[in-house]
Amino acid sequence: MSEYETPISRMAVEQFERAAKHLDLDPNISERLKRPQRALIVSVPIRMDDGSVEVFDGYRVQHNMALGPCKGGIRYHHEVNLGEVTALAMWMSWKCALAGLPMGGAKGGIRCHPETMSRNELQNMTRRYAAEIFLFIGPDTDIPAPDMGTNQQTMAWIMDTYSQHRGFSTPGVVTGKPVSIGGSLGRIEATGRGVVSTVVETAKYLNLNLNGATAVIQGFGNVGSVSAKYLSQSGCKIIAANDSKTAITNSKGFNIEKLIEYKIQNKTLKGFPEAEPISHDELLEIKCDILIPAALGRVINEKNASKIKCKIISEGANGPTTNEADEILFDKGIFVIPDILANSGGVIVSYFEWVQDLQNFFWSEEEISKNLQKIIKKSFHETLSLSQKKKVPMRIAALMLGVRKISDAMLVRGLYA
Ligand code: NAD
Repeated sequence: MSEYETPISRMAVEQFERAAKHLDLDPNISERLKRPQRALIVSVPIRMDDGSVEVFDGYRVQHNMALGPCKGGIRYHHEVNLGEVTALAMWMSWKCALAGLPMGGAKGGIRCHPETMSRNELQNMTRRYAAEIFLFIGPDTDIPAPDMGTNQQTMAWIMDTYSQHRGFSTPGVVTGKPVSIGGSLGRIEATGRGVVSTVVETAKYLNLNLNGATAVIQGFGNVGSVSAKYLSQSGCKIIAANDSKTAITNSKGFNIEKLIEYKIQNKTLKGFPEAEPISHDELLEIKCDILIPAALGRVINEKNASKIKCKIISEGANGPTTNEADEILFDKGIFVIPDILANSGGVIVSYFEWVQDLQNFFWSEEEISKNLQKIIKKSFHETLSLSQKKKVPMRIAALMLGVRKISDAMLVRGLYA
């Protein structure tokens, strides 16, 4: 067993193996792609508000950089560990390659409870973590972005810490920053926008009318709430949503603007007036047309997959469906839009942000949205047509496309030994 092995990293490797079976990959390349190129574990000591010092574990894993510098978010969550970060880094490699971006995959994170920490503590932790991974990241090597538990402010602190160490302003070291310091218009909305574009394309393919269709959102954070907003603009009724504290339903459909405003004001959906409480498990099993998991990994698994009653799952989260559940959903005829395709809007606009920072030339939101749609629709249709041609699920087709591009790049670059 390797240091990287956990249930989620095994799940990522198994997915790769399932796709690799259809690809006739060079066995040496295959062996290499099952593990990351580099992994860094750091200790992050910070002074808490009560004067005590606490030490947190931080990680940055770079999976593959055959196509270009690495790209991937930073997660603050109490379950972060080396295996999870490694799986997420691997998925980033396939995701960037599938979208045709000249980038490899990475991920980072700190095991902590961000919801219990003050702004000051979060800033101290972020700056010390940035200092510890300083030699690992940079605009030419590895460019972090937000993920669960982190946001624009976190990226601003990393950008500032990195720039202080370099001695000059280096906006291209992170994406997902505020626009005032070199962030891109449309980055906050990008992942949710992409999730909904893939739902729109699937609905056309399945002949499903989105006007009046019902949707359930698991995880009402950045990805979940933006997906809800655009689904609702496409005519869908959002009939249930949850966050880490509560799950709620309204069979007539929520007023999404009010729900988003409530979440911003109260930092939770708990207590939203026009709703009935339900359990987190029940939420995933509600009969609906579209289910968007937009929180943690492995939430759709062998225990609940047979009880899921939707037509489309668009994976806003990374790794929300286990491999066992995938087979059950496939047999039930549920159309799963896999994470590396469904949530790729985030990294696509992050790539645009990086390009804009390097050129010091910024695009309009219209241009960003148009280019995002172009790339994600192309990826969707390439994946759909391969899945039909090879008679494989969308996940396997998407992985095949991503893995093939990386393997081709590695073969032509050759082995430096
Ligand atoms: P976020 O921190 O903004 O939101 C996460 C939400 O999930 C929060 O509302 C939190 O309360 C909720 N949550 C946490 N645990 C939960 C649980 N057990 N049940 C229900 N809800 C729970 O994070 P985000 O940026 O929206 O990321 C969500 C997912 O999307 C992650 O899997 C992330 O890797 C993935 N993702 C994010 C981006 C991006 O651009 N932010 C891009 C691609 C993929």
